[in-house]
Amino acid sequence: MNMAETDNLAAGLRGELRRREPMAGHVSWRAGGVARTAYFPADLDDFVGFLRSLPAGEPVYMTGLGSNLLVRDGGLRGTVIFTHRALREIRLDHLGALGGGVYAEAGVACPKVARYAALNELVGAEFLAGIPGTVGGALAMNAGCYGSETWDIVAHVLTVDRTGKTRARTREDYEVDYRSVVLRGQEIPPNLPLAKGGVRGDLEEWFVAASFRLKRGSGAESRGKITELLKRRIATQPLGEPNAGSVFRNPKGDYAARLIEACGLKGRAIGKAMISDKHANFIVNRGGARAADIEALILLAEHSVREKFGIVLEREVRIVGDG
Ligand SMILES: Cc1cc2nc3c(=O)[nH]c(=O)nc-3n(C[C@H](O)[C@H](O)[C@H](O)COP(=O)(O)OP(=O)(O)OC[C@H]3O[C@@H](n4cnc5c(N)ncnc54)[C@H](O)[C@@H]3O)c2cc1C
Repeated sequence: MNMAETDNLAAGLRGELRRREPMAGHVSWRAGGVARTAYFPADLDDFVGFLRSLPAGEPVYMTGLGSNLLVRDGGLRGTVIFTHRALREIRLDHLGALGGGVYAEAGVACPKVARYAALNELVGAEFLAGIPGTVGGALAMNAGCYGSETWDIVAHVLTVDRTGKTRARTREDYEVDYRSVVLRGQEIPPNLPLAKGGVRGDLEEWFVAASFRLKRGSGAESRGKITELLKRRIATQPLGEPNAGSVFRNPKGDYAARLIEACGLKGRAIGKAMISDKHANFIVNRGGARAADIEALILLAEHSVREKFGIVLEREVRIVGDG
């Protein structure tokens, strides 16, 4: 991006623009390179205004809480936009014939949606308590756990594109799959493995908000479920060390963790990164890991599982930037 252009834009905008922003502070792996430009919008209008003002061709990386993201050590040549400070509204939603629900903007943390729903005697969003990302990230990933997925409870979403045009869309507008959401009719560049699971194409479009359709029920029961779910996570996941959740999707009928463990990789370290000895589908940063160490372990797990079982593991985490 041309510096002068950005500075001119900043004059009309109310958010915070930063140069050479270290991404390690914004991703749950606490590793990785620098973003050339980072923007923290002030609110929804400012967010839309900033998108409109970007030069055509400037790569945009929409980012929530970075809980599924690895930025390579060489950094990002583009603009990262953070949603979590700006798109924070959460309220009850009346969905007409569809019933009741919760409206949450893309920057709201998923556990907040789960708690807010329970507080308002609405049930069905408990699983979101276990997902340490934003609503936008959960929509992009179709995040889920314990048998529920984000798009199971979506009534509709609001999106915005680079021109600032907003649209209301429903599930029918997307091909929704396990950890994968693609806008129908969008051209997906064949050389872009990241495209699967994102909302991309010629017309880039991002999530601004979602209305979740939920049933009336017992808030107390819902809070109990949330507590149980979090207990299970603490028992099975290496939550004490920086990680990005499951690195790979589970192949049909099997578990990535089982396959990686069967290859003898539990506890294997490269630099300061390690395949968790608690859960083999997690890679943890033991302090000062480079993104390259983490990626090398990802490649090692992929190679080993392919050699031993003939199974190609698909990545759930998104890897962006220059090596
Ligand atoms: C300890 C731990 C446990 C986890 N457990 C689970 C789990 O049980 N189930 C599960 O599914 N995931 C899990 N995850 C992974 C992660 O939390 C989810 O993928 C989450 O949905 C990512 O949200 P985020 O806001 O952090 O997104 P980010 O990591 O910031 O971004 C992820 C992707 O979403 C895109 N994105 C973000 N915001 C938007 C937007 N507004 N519009 C369009 N695209 C957007 C980004 O461009 C990127 O491609 C876990 C992670 C951790 C660290």
